[in-house]
Amino acid sequence: MNKKFHFLDDGGEMGRLMREKDWSLTPLGEPNGWPQSLRITLNIMLNSPFPMFLFWGNTLKSFYNDAYRPILGDDGKHPKILGLNGKEAWSESWSDVEPMLKIVTEKGESIWKENLMVPIFRNGQMEDVYWTFSYSPVKDEAGCVSGVLVIVTDTTEAVLAERRLKESERRFREVANLSPVWIWITDNEINIQYSNRALLEYVGVENESDFTGQVWIDVVHPDDLDIVFKGFGKAVEDESGFTLEYRVKRKETGNYEWFKVLGAPKFEEGKMVGFIGTAMNIDKQKSFSDHLKKEVDIRTRELADSNDKLEAMNKELQSFAYISSHDLQEPLRKIQMFSEVLMENEFDKLSTSGKVKFEKIQSAANRMQSLINDLLSYSRTDTEKRVFEIVDLKDVITDVKNDLGDELNHKHGKITLLKSCKIEVVPFQFRQLMYNLLSNSIKYAKSDVSPEIIIDTAIVKNAKSIDSSLKNKKEYVQITITDNGIGFDEQFAEKIFEVFQRLHSRQEYVGTGIGLAIVKKIVQNHFGVISATGKLNEGSVFVIVMPKAQ
Ligand code: ADP
Repeated sequence: MNKKFHFLDDGGEMGRLMREKDWSLTPLGEPNGWPQSLRITLNIMLNSPFPMFLFWGNTLKSFYNDAYRPILGDDGKHPKILGLNGKEAWSESWSDVEPMLKIVTEKGESIWKENLMVPIFRNGQMEDVYWTFSYSPVKDEAGCVSGVLVIVTDTTEAVLAERRLKESERRFREVANLSPVWIWITDNEINIQYSNRALLEYVGVENESDFTGQVWIDVVHPDDLDIVFKGFGKAVEDESGFTLEYRVKRKETGNYEWFKVLGAPKFEEGKMVGFIGTAMNIDKQKSFSDHLKKEVDIRTRELADSNDKLEAMNKELQSFAYISSHDLQEPLRKIQMFSEVLMENEFDKLSTSGKVKFEKIQSAANRMQSLINDLLSYSRTDTEKRVFEIVDLKDVITDVKNDLGDELNHKHGKITLLKSCKIEVVPFQFRQLMYNLLSNSIKYAKSDVSPEIIIDTAIVKNAKSIDSSLKNKKEYVQITITDNGIGFDEQFAEKIFEVFQRLHSRQEYVGTGIGLAIVKKIVQNHFGVISATGKLNEGSVFVIVMPKAQ
């Protein structure tokens, strides 16, 4: 049956259902005879995209539009409640609905409710649904209330979402209040919008609303205010987070304690609206590190003092060594001179054992001479003025080779320089250094193997990895001297550089035990390092690392 009623034109599914329904069997009769007020109201409803429901007449017959349709869900009242009495249509919630309808029908008043829970049977079950709605009277031609128009939205989702939000905020507050770390949110004038309990208690403010920007200014240490203003200002400028350390007054004691504050400006739609942040009490760490720093300062000063004293003592000692060896030369020279005279004129007159003893006196005097010479040059390495010049290693080696000519020839030795280099040094000291090392290599050669000495150089880039006293930025030259001599036990690798340290007896090899001490001193004078490695009966390697330029 498809009847044509203009007021039921359009209206989507509900319009069609109303047109198709056989109203003749209901007390309302055919739509043709429906009162004008009902027709107009239905026409408005069917054309509205807003959910609407109409209770009409004494029995409150039910009408609703397409927009209302989803509210009824599936497996529920739709479509059977169309034209049904209100009490039957809404039996599950009639006790809630009827009193409201009565207010409208009996008093002619409108009702508006927000987020009211009224249960409804839909989707095959009873559901608790929240509604925001208005009930308004629809009057007939005589001015009597003959219907109630319900305009409604299902706000369940919004109500539940808000409830979830409140719950999550409650939980956040609970957790935040348990935290000893401050958690805070401010507006852009640093007035607190949210603060956890730890911060409120520390500062001694009861309510967040009393925690204005001025309170911050009152509790931050006056000396640190500048840091705070600049830090916050820069964070806004850079639109980035910040970490600041400053002191804040504890209400309870009136003392300032150190805090590490991490924060960030808050932006909404590109506008700065405040700050959000946390703060941790670092007073204990801070005072500990302050204490540590003071201790380190004191120790450093003490160390510097002892260094100064040591240096002064060293100087004294050196000048003593210099003076004494210098003064010793005089009587020694006399011994040598007179023994030479004796040798020339009276030697023959001595008995055989007298001759032996006399020779021993002479050799002891000669040894003393070389000891004094070595001691003198050892003390001189420090006291003499250092004038640096660029020298070519090959020239120095040629020079030293000439000096060592006799020993070298005598032992059929060979000195090979693989790669020369230029280096800025104090020439006579550097010459002595090379001389001492090369003469040792010849002296400590194996008795049955001719000495072969190889000298090589290389440029060192990251010198710090060799020795922490060297600087990575500087360019260093590494000079390696390798010999095939008697070598030495690795455990003495450092000891041999000490004054008077000898691994071999005077009977085996002549020497004073000062040569390598001089070498080390010269290397140090050039801000370099020296090390030695050796293997008994296999040879030794001496490695010098010195700045290419001073
Ligand atoms: P010395 O006057 O005894 O040569 P040095 O200070 O020059 O004094 O050397 C100290 C000691 O180191 C030497 O006595 C020797 O035992 C050892 N030594 C030095 N150079 C070499 C080398 N090239 N091969 C083996 N041993 C060496």
